[in-house]
Amino acid sequence: MSTDLHGRTQRLELSDQNLRSFEAVVLDSTPEGIVLSRSAFYPGGGGQPADHGVLLWLGVETRIVGIRKGDDLYLIPAEGDPVPPVGTVVEAAVEDERRSALMRTHSGLHVLCGVVFRDYGSLVTGGNMEPLSARMDFNMPEVPPGFKEAVEDACNAEILADRRIDVRVLPRKEAFDIPDIIRTATNLVPEEVEDVRIVDIVGLDTQADGGTHVASTRQIGRIKVAKIESKGRGFRRLRIAISD
Ligand SMILES: [Zn+2]
Repeated sequence: MSTDLHGRTQRLELSDQNLRSFEAVVLDSTPEGIVLSRSAFYPGGGGQPADHGVLLWLGVETRIVGIRKGDDLYLIPAEGDPVPPVGTVVEAAVEDERRSALMRTHSGLHVLCGVVFRDYGSLVTGGNMEPLSARMDFNMPEVPPGFKEAVEDACNAEILADRRIDVRVLPRKEAFDIPDIIRTATNLVPEEVEDVRIVDIVGLDTQADGGTHVASTRQIGRIKVAKIESKGRGFRRLRIAISD
């Protein structure tokens, strides 16, 4: 998908979520940020934090510890690390352990979201994640007895069912004809966005989403509902942990 541009950087991770290394040319370079011609680093967004990794060039290593989204995508180098000059061809590697954990966690949150909507009709109001732990907020006036165990069991049943997780890009109009997309994203996708990326846990949950996901639910591992917090009227926060 050649349209996956952020500023001058072609985003590779949107169409290939398993890509962990790539070559690119440095377009801009300061100790505050490095701009590459192409990048598989997830820049952060939708609750999923940015990737970490390294750039290798002429025998030198530049660690990447974050990403700033501006007119371009700025890879933030570790403090004190040398930065490659403009025009350098770099070998880049995304830190696999962190990214793979974030993919499992992000897909796990979508399973949770799908289960809670299907079984309780509750909508998500917010969420955030770290590798292998996450929280998700729901609009839910009453918490029924046995809710925590029931949700956990239902999530793990969906994982064992090994549902496919498909990613596709649809024209805006077509995307918003999917009833689930209207539920989760009508107000979140800016009007000027013409193509909408859809993450579909087939048979469970369909959302407009820019994050990176595993290919099927079994790859998530196990979901534990660690805690349910009450955050005021009708506002429940579920904390989950992901394990093997
Ligand atoms: Zn998501």
